[in-house]
Amino acid sequence: MKLLLTNDDGVRADGLSILASTLSEIAEVYVVAPDRERSATSHSFTLFDPLRVEKVGTRVWSVSGTPADCAYLGLLEFCKGADLVISGINHGYNLGGDIFYSGTVAAAVEAAVRGVPAIAMSMGVGRGADFHRAARFCRSLVTGWRPLPPRTLLSVNVPGPKEPPPPSDQPAYQITRLGERMYRDHVDSRTDPRGNTYYWIGGPLATASEPPGTDVHAVHQGLIAVTPLGLDLTHRELLGTLPSWDVPGFSLIPSASE
Ligand code: MN
Repeated sequence: MKLLLTNDDGVRADGLSILASTLSEIAEVYVVAPDRERSATSHSFTLFDPLRVEKVGTRVWSVSGTPADCAYLGLLEFCKGADLVISGINHGYNLGGDIFYSGTVAAAVEAAVRGVPAIAMSMGVGRGADFHRAARFCRSLVTGWRPLPPRTLLSVNVPGPKEPPPPSDQPAYQITRLGERMYRDHVDSRTDPRGNTYYWIGGPLATASEPPGTDVHAVHQGLIAVTPLGLDLTHRELLGTLPSWDVPGFSLIPSASE
């Protein structure tokens, strides 16, 4: 089995190197990853600058681009014919709406777009965080791998050291749906030494609603959350109700049903 690994924390990140060494026990591992931290770059693509690539180890390449660039370059150039793309292990959760910002998830999405199955691996961080636990789960998931439907991927979140221990002696997982993860709105406006205003955006986590069955709920119970994701963001219910809108001056042509 040929695996392409990438991440958004950079090619030297612990999560990635621990994942690579653990998966090397069962598969042929290729790493194509950003040369520096690229967290929260989502699906950004480098189209107006060259991508510089440096081979930094056996089957390891460092790229001056984003996680999505790395998945693309990996699949089309350095690891052609990969059976599976695994992105991570991210240093921090990607729960609920985080997936819209996450470079980790975007690299896995890029693989799914290109018809290659993918896993995004993320883990809660803090003192004593042990990426080996997450890497072992990933190894087991790959060991029992079955084909996914087209245009789908898995997003895995492994509880970090701040969560309670799992309810059973054995590490356990749950199949979940996306929850909501809310951050406080925050714009910090400051003045630089030359008198110009600059900004920092993004607030800390706010209390999330955590209905059972969501990824957020599972990790806070000490369970690994496995969330299946699809590339189709179409909202089925709105497909039915939007035609009742009045849009003056434009006629609505009904679309053919499936
Ligand atoms: Mn990251």
